[in-house]
Amino acid sequence: MRPTQVARIRRLASYVLSAFLLCELLIVTVVSAQPKFAPKNSAVMAQQKRGTGRGPSRSATPARNPQISKIVTEIDPRNIERTIRKLVSFGTRNTLSDQNDPNRGIGAARDWLYSEFQQAAAQSGGRMTVEKQAFEQPKAARVPQPTMLTNVVATLKGTQPESTNRVYVVSGHYDSMCSNPSDAKCDAPGANDDASGTAAVLEMARVMAKYQFDATIVFMTVPGEEQGLMGATHFAEEAKKSNTDIEAMFTNDIIGSSLGANGLHDPHTVRVFSEGVPSNETPQEAMTRRSVGGENDSTSRQLARFIKEVGEQYVTSMKVWMIYRRDRYGRGGDHQPFLERGYAAVRFTEPNENYQHQHQNVRVQDGIQYGDLPQFDDFNYIADVARVNAAALAALASAPARPKNVTFPSGLANDTPIKWDANKEPDLAGYEIVWRDTTEATWTHSQSVGNVQIFTMKGMSKDNFFFGVRAVDKEGNRSPVTYPRQAPRAPRTDQPAQPSP
Ligand SMILES: [Zn+2]
Repeated sequence: MRPTQVARIRRLASYVLSAFLLCELLIVTVVSAQPKFAPKNSAVMAQQKRGTGRGPSRSATPARNPQISKIVTEIDPRNIERTIRKLVSFGTRNTLSDQNDPNRGIGAARDWLYSEFQQAAAQSGGRMTVEKQAFEQPKAARVPQPTMLTNVVATLKGTQPESTNRVYVVSGHYDSMCSNPSDAKCDAPGANDDASGTAAVLEMARVMAKYQFDATIVFMTVPGEEQGLMGATHFAEEAKKSNTDIEAMFTNDIIGSSLGANGLHDPHTVRVFSEGVPSNETPQEAMTRRSVGGENDSTSRQLARFIKEVGEQYVTSMKVWMIYRRDRYGRGGDHQPFLERGYAAVRFTEPNENYQHQHQNVRVQDGIQYGDLPQFDDFNYIADVARVNAAALAALASAPARPKNVTFPSGLANDTPIKWDANKEPDLAGYEIVWRDTTEATWTHSQSVGNVQIFTMKGMSKDNFFFGVRAVDKEGNRSPVTYPRQAPRAPRTDQPAQPSP
């Protein structure tokens, strides 16, 4: 061979080698791109094939419920605008303002809302009732003398006897404030805080009153938020005293603007705040949680996941931005009194706030317009937030209750049995086990397991995944997920109440 031929063969060989290495690289990339939490154990694969017929799967998008799609379409931004402008026209809705003037003050707002909810109820065939829940608020830090407060509460009764006592609450606060929370005279338009939330709740009541749901929905507007969450606290306390089964509560507060003070315009995002560790956690529950985890799996966090899944399914232009906090940093809202009494609750708020438009006297200073004026509201955005709320509420009230008494019945094992109580709804189809890697934010996998009360995830240890159970009815409506709690263990004589090393 001549030297040129040798060189040519060497070059060819090096091309072949690099092509081979490239192929290897691609194969490695494809393999490692598979979900890291997909169980590789063959027993697991076999188990999941038995369960689903197609092996481990990402949660498939469930079929749409046509009634929920219709509700979402019927929410009308023009009604929301009309409500907000009307509420602003009362000059102030400060909780300490006049209760008897028909044109100015919180009393005028209360009476107008009551009559609007009554008009909504007229479409319900007698299923929606409206009440003024009045109570005397004693003197408090922001209440200089005992004051009557009135929640306006519209209740749409569920039609399934087994579910009618299961209640979902959606709320906004109709009071407002300017710079000083105790100033009852100054103009406090409160177009965003919180005429926006109030208008969303009223519009949901108007649209949803015409439809039937298995469970009961309460559409509520409350005063006293700015004085210290007083209307919501009264409602939550009364519910607790009467053992009302409130399965979820949404507060809509400051959902009015898609433009933040930071200049960001984002009409496609709503923040949903949910707490991880329950506000009413006992020291015993805290000790268990430190041992087995679960700080990211409270009922409120499951509710936030449910809202994200359903909201984004029905309102495809919107992103539900889950925030892992009870509320904004160091701030509070009307969901808190519910959380403190053990109810699952979340807060909806716009993504970027503008503090020049909150809790400010209306004025122009250094060329800047201060005050919570309707010109800063985006009515189409508020309608989209109302749609996300309405889709989630309708889905909750159409679905079976979330499974109760969900536990891991056995101790140390690489298989994970999960056990729960039977639901009582007559249209129940069965249950799904969901799971995710411990670092995932949302449930990534689900498996239908039939109408059973115990199921074992073979080859999947509860050490390595988070599991949950949800109920599904015959129309495909899914409940929120219930996170299992640790089953009470028989006390060990050698090491009572200590986790196994
Ligand atoms: Zn507010």
